[in-house]
Amino acid sequence: RIPVICIDGPTASGKGTLAAAVAARLGYHLLDSGALYRLTALSAAQHGVGPQAANEAVLAELAASLPVRFDATRVWLAGQDVSEAIRTEQIGMQASQVSQLPLVRSALVALQHGFRRLPGLVADGRDMGTVIFPQAPLKIYLTASAQCRAERRHKQLISKGISTTIADLRADLEARDARDMQRQSAPLKPAEDALLLDSSELTIDETVDRVLGWWQA
Ligand code: C5P
Repeated sequence: RIPVICIDGPTASGKGTLAAAVAARLGYHLLDSGALYRLTALSAAQHGVGPQAANEAVLAELAASLPVRFDATRVWLAGQDVSEAIRTEQIGMQASQVSQLPLVRSALVALQHGFRRLPGLVADGRDMGTVIFPQAPLKIYLTASAQCRAERRHKQLISKGISTTIADLRADLEARDARDMQRQSAPLKPAEDALLLDSSELTIDETVDRVLGWWQA
């Protein structure tokens, strides 16, 4: 069986950084499942389709047939490099909306399973351990306080020259978490066999070492 390490948790908990670092250390593939919801939202916007529930069937069709290609560092949609375009706060909000829709979620399952290839996979998301890879031998649920996550996101955005306030970012990420935790379909929660890791007081290297330690145990 091809090994999978799942890293789930709320927005801006540091999952992406942790998952990429663990994948690099092990030489494993990486699935950034949030990118698939972001790509669905972007594709919808490009087709003039709003992210609301009334458009669920059309959104699911777009999700099922995303003309997407990943290489080591970039994401392509219909031959266009959208690596930056999918990272805006606006697309993040729309991704959060389309991710509420059960038909969109099921439309993305096969695409996600396709990332499990030898020698192994690190999967980053909200439902990797609960829904997509329930048999995975290692599941991490990564958290950090809302204030800490807002501060980290703020630092990232400032370094990109984008100006926002920590308070706005915190309100935004709390709204997104509430939606993820309350939705009917694959709500955000730790898998029963997940190991909880709070990164508030840890450096990135410390969280990476913690996960690699568990993997090797
Ligand atoms: O992780 P990221 O912020 O890129 O994800 C964008 C949105 O997609 C999240 O706000 C979340 O609502 C949704 N998502 C999801 N299930 C996943 C990954 C992301 O519902 N496995």
